[in-house]
Amino acid sequence: QSDTETRSFQAEAAQILDLMAHSLYSNKEIFLRELISNASDAIDRLRFERYADPGPADGESDDAPRIRISFDKDAGTVTIADNGIGMSRQEVIDNIGTIARSGTADFLRSLTGDQRRDAELIGQFGVGFYSAFVVADRVVLTTRRAGLPASEGVRWSSDGKGEYALEAVERAEHGTTIVLELRESEDELLSEYRLRSIVQRYSDHITQPIVLSDDDTAVNQASALWTRPRSELSEQDYHSYYRNLTHDYSDPLAHVHTKVEGRYEYTLLLYIPSRAPHDLWLPQTRGGLRLHVRRVFILEDTGQLLPDYLRFVRGVVDSADLPLNVSREILQSSHAVDHIRSSAVKRVLKLLGGLAADEPGKYADFWKEFGGVLKQGVADDPAHREDLVELLRFTSTRSGTQDADVSLADYVDRMKDGQDKIYYLLAPGQSSAAASPHLEAYRAKDIEVLLLSEAVDGFVVSGPLQEYRGKRLRSVTQGPPDFGTLEDEAEKEAADRADSDYAALLGLLKAHLAGKAYDVRVTSRLTTSPACIVADGVETDFTTAQRLRGSGL
Ligand code: ADP
Ligand code: MG
Repeated sequence: QSDTETRSFQAEAAQILDLMAHSLYSNKEIFLRELISNASDAIDRLRFERYADPGPADGESDDAPRIRISFDKDAGTVTIADNGIGMSRQEVIDNIGTIARSGTADFLRSLTGDQRRDAELIGQFGVGFYSAFVVADRVVLTTRRAGLPASEGVRWSSDGKGEYALEAVERAEHGTTIVLELRESEDELLSEYRLRSIVQRYSDHITQPIVLSDDDTAVNQASALWTRPRSELSEQDYHSYYRNLTHDYSDPLAHVHTKVEGRYEYTLLLYIPSRAPHDLWLPQTRGGLRLHVRRVFILEDTGQLLPDYLRFVRGVVDSADLPLNVSREILQSSHAVDHIRSSAVKRVLKLLGGLAADEPGKYADFWKEFGGVLKQGVADDPAHREDLVELLRFTSTRSGTQDADVSLADYVDRMKDGQDKIYYLLAPGQSSAAASPHLEAYRAKDIEVLLLSEAVDGFVVSGPLQEYRGKRLRSVTQGPPDFGTLEDEAEKEAADRADSDYAALLGLLKAHLAGKAYDVRVTSRLTTSPACIVADGVETDFTTAQRLRGSGL
């Protein structure tokens, strides 16, 4: 089929393309970062496919991986070419043609109107390819899937205005070439110096060599940063590597870089981002850790190398023990992976513990973004529960702010003499928690109460977190008030007497509320409100943390 076929982008496409063309020019250089990052992914994918399934080769000499950038002053074009995996016709349609990919709608929803920020969001939402239209008024992509015959090349072209054309072409090498026909106003990009500086600024840490024009020396560092000794690396190096890795535009909050030698040999470079990604609570989070085997990129992992409750951690694992053709199935049953995973968890928790102790301000920022996810770990990971519990933060009747800044250690350290329980109130929101009549008696006795208002809180306190340093956790809304040894004899007697004094009234109320209330009691828990409702059994029906995540709570 050699005829040209014209197809329309799907609905949201027009919006995205229009946005690229007209609104994101203040940060236009990112187009190159996005196209280089795709080229790099394509090369990694080819290598992985070859390791995983050597199969019949497509008869080509397998050139060393490279990404080539060139420009043509007369034609006004910039070209990005890779010898990666390429795409079949159907893959072009699915990946480049539709734009109805999952990230698209989220991207549009997340736009802030601030050009700088919005441009930075592109890479995170899987709409990077379209940033080509920030600088180009026509884009021609020619590609051929590795493993398919030369006759199965495909040419895709579009002016970004709603339609694109597809045509079958002959293409000798596998891989992808993208020609950007620049808008007239973008002539300044037609300069070796200019292109080189963009590459160095945004793509220095891409692991394949990026070569410019006819010069075959790489313009990027092309070194695997994590293999270099810590002493040679500056904070700046770590930050710029992070930005390359994640397309995040804020610096990470913290990182840990360590090389482990012993029974297993591996390097970990783990980052805590400073902001939560848009998809943190969606069933499928992008990102996670990138697994390498002796520097060769193997796969992007979102589950095996770290538990779900640390899914916000980004970074690199490089193992010397795994086979290069490792698959997800092998990962699941590998002792080396078990070892790496548990050491990664320990290091992340230690990093967080260090932040909490030494940089409480930073830790508070962390907690705001990721606290809800980390809480899940208290339930999911009994092996590390003790460390996790120390990392929890709550709001309380004592802290005086809406911020969750009270740890269980803080609470226990300032418990009243004779107090033997940790009291908490579970409520659907901050304000209803703070206003709850159940707190009155505790306020009157000057007893601190933790205010839990996140969905996951109910789950945590209903099971996995029953006591801390020997003090039981106790809900203030469940059962009769219980001040333990803080209750004096006089109060107890008064409560008993009240029950008999008001027996007639209680009987009337019980009859009136039959079927609606299980019991009606005189209470000493209120000081200003006339009545309150008390829960009887377990107060939450959340059964698994996974459900919380799936429901987007
Ligand atoms: P993302 O890279 O986040 O998936 P992009 O919009 O940047 O989103 O790219 C969309 C998809 O197009 C990629 O996932 C990939 O499947 C395909 N693609 C883009 N560029 C290339 C390339 N140079 N080689 C092979 N496939 C590519
Ligand atoms: Mg991309």
